[in-house]
Parts: sequence; C-alpha cells; structure tokens
Amino acid sequence: MDLILLGLPGAGKGTQAEYIVKEYNVPHISTGDIFRAALKNETPLGLEAKKYMDAGELVPDEVTNNIVKERLQEDDVKDGFLLDGYPRTLNQSEALKNNLQDLGRELDAVIYLNVPKEILIERLAGRYICSNCGATYHKLNNPTQVEGVCDNCGGTEFHQRDDDKPETVEKRIKVNEEQTDKLVEYFNNEGVLVEIEGNRDPKDVFAEVKEILQGKTLN
Ligand code: ADP
Ligand code: AMP
Repeated sequence: MDLILLGLPGAGKGTQAEYIVKEYNVPHISTGDIFRAALKNETPLGLEAKKYMDAGELVPDEVTNNIVKERLQEDDVKDGFLLDGYPRTLNQSEALKNNLQDLGRELDAVIYLNVPKEILIERLAGRYICSNCGATYHKLNNPTQVEGVCDNCGGTEFHQRDDDKPETVEKRIKVNEEQTDKLVEYFNNEGVLVEIEGNRDPKDVFAEVKEILQGKTLN
C-alpha cells in the first residue's frame, strides 16, 4: 500500500498517520520528522533545513527529493509506505513519480485532508508533542486521556514545535496553500486523489480513511 497524506499544516496528517500505522503497519515517512531529527542531531542537513523551517519556508526541492529517494530504497518500505508532508511542490511530485517508476511501483491513493484555514491556525496554536515518542495532541481538541501522561508511551514530557509560533504559522499556511492547490489538481489528474472533510473528530476522519483503504492490501 503506497499512500500519501496531503493537507495544509495542521490538517491532521500526523494524527491520521499514527492511526494508519497502527492499523496497517506501514512505515510512516514524514519529511518534517526527518528534518527535525536531523536538526536535533545537528547534522549538516539539519542545520541547512533549520534556516527554512524557522522562516516557515520550504526546504529546497533538491534536498528534500534526495532524502525521500534514499528513504524509499530502504528495506522496510518494500511492502508499502505512508508519505506525510511530501510531496509539497509540483517538482517534488514529479520527482516522486520518476522514483516510483524506477522502483516499479504505483501510488494507491493520495488522501487529501481538507480543513478551513481559520481552524488550522487554532489547531497549530494548541498542538503539543510527546517528547519521548512524538505522539501529537491538542490542548482542547485532542488532549491526553490522563493529564500530563502520553496515551501512547506513558511519557510525561511534552513540548511545542518551534515553528508553531503564531508568526511562523501564518507564513507556513500561506506558503503551503499556494502549492497544495496545485498538488490537488496534479493528483486529481493522475486519478489517485481522494478528498476527505478533515474538520471533524479525528476518529471519524479515520473511519473514512479506512473505507478508502478497504480492499487495498500490502504490495
Ligand atoms: P499536520 O501533521 O497535518 O500538521 P497534526 O496531525 O499534527 O497536523 O494536527 C495538528 C493539531 O490538530 C494537533 O494538535 C492535533 O492534535 C489536532 N488535530 C488533528 N486532527 C484533528 C481533528 N480531526 N480535529 C481536531 N483537532 C485535530
Ligand atoms: P511538517 O512537519 O510537515 O509541518 O514540516 C515542517 C517543516 O519542514 C516545513 O515547514 C518545511 O520547512 C520543512 N518540510 C517538511 N516537508 C517538506 C517538503 N516536502 N518540502 C519542503 N520542506 C519541507
């Protein structure tokens, strides 16, 4: 099952990815997570990416495309993958298409989570992350079941993302908005786009994701 989760920042890609990974056991490839891990380890890639992430801009296509190309050659993706936050530009979409062609595989679905912009700002402002396992929560919409304890791993340390500050959030949404419309059109033309109303309870969104994925098995 080769899948893409498409949507603006805060649309719920990471949240749905957590559900999808648990249910279908498919590796989750988030370019944002890859950049944040590189930054944490202070690698040259991380330091390069930081400049763009702090400004709410996109990391250059060439850098991002190479990372995904390498990641898709790893052994654990041979039966499927879930891409989250990639592709984000038409250039990345074309690069992915060529990559998949070389690997002799095809996308099964591109799931577009559509959420109004005003809602996204509120979601990003309230987002917090488990510092141990990376699970995503929201202060109001999606808190931990026990206050201060991660549902997933029991961790008790949480943080907010640096780029979820209000100044950066607006910029990120704007930058991604321009690209996302083009990607929706691109994948529609490719015949793989499925749009989901993302402004609902995460469990209801996932129920629809499952309907879409019904009948699609691991490659
Ligand atoms: P993305 O990965 O697309 O940037 P996230 O999955 O991190 O988005 O979600 C952004 C914020 O919105 C998080 O705080 C998350 O808990 C919350 N959230 C995710 N899905 C929903 C939903 N369907 N309804 C309300 N809040 C949501
Ligand atoms: P995300 O975790 O998906 O919200 O991504 C966080 C940041 O990482 C973005 O604001 C970009 O700066 C960078 N990034 C993540 N994915 C991509 C991508 N596919 N192309 C370019 N930049 C990206």
